Amino acid sequence: MIPVSGEVLHHWRCQAQTDAQNADVPLYEVDWLLQGVSALSQSDLSLGLYRDRLNVPLRQSLAWLTEQWQRRLVERVPVQYLVGETPWRDLMLTVTPDVLIPRPETELIVDIVQAWAEQQELTSEPQVWADLGTGSGAIAISLAKTFPQFHVLAVDISAAALDVARQNAERNQVENIQFYQGSWFDTLEDWYGQLWGVIANPPYIPSNVILELEPEVMNHEPHQALDGGQDGLDDIRLLIEQAPKFFQSDGLWLTEHMQGQAQSIAALLAAEAVYTDIQTHQDLAGIERFVSARLSCLDQL
Ligand code: GLN
Repeated sequence: MIPVSGEVLHHWRCQAQTDAQNADVPLYEVDWLLQGVSALSQSDLSLGLYRDRLNVPLRQSLAWLTEQWQRRLVERVPVQYLVGETPWRDLMLTVTPDVLIPRPETELIVDIVQAWAEQQELTSEPQVWADLGTGSGAIAISLAKTFPQFHVLAVDISAAALDVARQNAERNQVENIQFYQGSWFDTLEDWYGQLWGVIANPPYIPSNVILELEPEVMNHEPHQALDGGQDGLDDIRLLIEQAPKFFQSDGLWLTEHMQGQAQSIAALLAAEAVYTDIQTHQDLAGIERFVSARLSCLDQL
């Protein structure tokens, strides 16, 4: 640990905040970086409780912090990649540029599954669920932790992403999870007719919109996790088409999507006779960001 005086740290923090303001970066990100390298809490920082301390132990030098903060301001590297982790629901997740940074709105996916589970008849039977395009493992790990009776299949095409997801499962002590490297359902043949739920936060941004995204996303997050083809719906269409044969008698199909896509996805689902109870769900800003459906009547397949 590197000891830094509270007063020097305070000075560094004030300067970093001024620089953030000038570079149009949220001031609170300075504290995220400081919390990533110290034992200081958000309230220690906001209330200035560290200022009188002779020594605040830091895991990195102030020179390192200055260098990282410049990368944030100039190169527009997301602060989560600099710190190497992000909180998400009740988890702390490792993130690297190999994975999309899990977003707060995606947290609601687990709430939707919870609401669905509450409506179902309770069963102690183990249920197999799949999180397709797991990235950092956020959804899969949260499902596995929230529902100990689930066996969660966490799938990603990227071996590097899957490494991060595995680390996150271990870090959060989740064991009822199994990892598969592959594209969507391609490596899941063993699970034909056995899934109770298929969940995804797939790439859904139209290819020509990617270039217009803010530089933090466009220059630093994996495009493979973002680009959903010409209308953004390539992967969602595939998930709708391929999911049915993997379900047991009745289950939940659920995806996140971009603002404005809800009606198209609902229409795609409605066009397949096996999906019923098609519902759109809003995020906390009141924007439709998720579509779910019940999969049943498998005799029609
Ligand atoms: N499932 C991960 C998440 O929700 C990754 C999503 C993605 O890469 N498109 O954050």
